[in-house]
Amino acid sequence: MLHLGLDIGGTKTEALLLNDRGEELHRERIATEKASYPAFLERLLAFINHLRRRADAPFTVGIGLPGAVDPQQGTIKNCNCLVLNGEDLRGDLQRQLDQPVWLANDADCFTLSEATDGAGAGLDVVFGVIVGTGCGGGVAVRQRLLSGPNAIAGEWGHNPLPDWSADIDGTPPACYCGRAHCIERFISGTGLSERFNRQWGTAFSAPQILAAAQRGDQRAEAHYRHFVDAFARSLGSVINLLDPDVIVLGGGLSNVDRLYVDVPLRLERYVFSGACRTAIRQAAFGDASGVRGAAWLPQFAPAPS
Ligand SMILES: [Zn+2]
Repeated sequence: MLHLGLDIGGTKTEALLLNDRGEELHRERIATEKASYPAFLERLLAFINHLRRRADAPFTVGIGLPGAVDPQQGTIKNCNCLVLNGEDLRGDLQRQLDQPVWLANDADCFTLSEATDGAGAGLDVVFGVIVGTGCGGGVAVRQRLLSGPNAIAGEWGHNPLPDWSADIDGTPPACYCGRAHCIERFISGTGLSERFNRQWGTAFSAPQILAAAQRGDQRAEAHYRHFVDAFARSLGSVINLLDPDVIVLGGGLSNVDRLYVDVPLRLERYVFSGACRTAIRQAAFGDASGVRGAAWLPQFAPAPS
């Protein structure tokens, strides 16, 4: 049996076909159809059927998407691919494909991938964090995704930044979720650049600011130092609650090498035990982790209802 993973993004949908050993057999991308739900469904079904014809064996189907499946209704919620919200995507796919389909949040898929055969392989508790445009997270315990009645396990990005103060952290714009001082407003590429540009009247991207800090620009370096401190405060509260064996970072900001030295040093200030033994690692599979985790869903997640 082969394993098809699909990663539905805002602009592209990526497919990855794995064998039982996790070896990549085929990879393909299409544009995500967002005009309407029927159009989205038709395009996705055509893509899966195309992949069925191309594969030389049957495959399981797992899908990651930027939203969640409501555990009671079975419908999609909180999805930034808006046409999917309120729709029974799993049910519709299962009826049309005549086989079980697994769906999960994309940060959960990332976490499962890294817990299974990535940077958290062999460890009991893995907290996966995607620090990119936004800030998502997921929790895997012994290679099983943690889930609950709200389908939000690991969604730390909309907790308030611990120890927030106007003097040290400034007042970011209100978050789209309606809350104030959300971690995502600080710990994301968007938050990092937005805060810098508001303070200095500039229009730099997060990579430009981080590159300037590396070159010794004092304003950018001070901004980076604040980012590290806010990141450590935020992760410290997760460690105090969950005590994971490893925190695996993915997304654009996970490529900043200095973070893997600076954040662990700062964590010692915020973790209850003083010395912090939790490893902070970069994702082993980079941007491919989400689609790999989607492919592993049928083996490492509860059966779909
Ligand atoms: Zn928020």
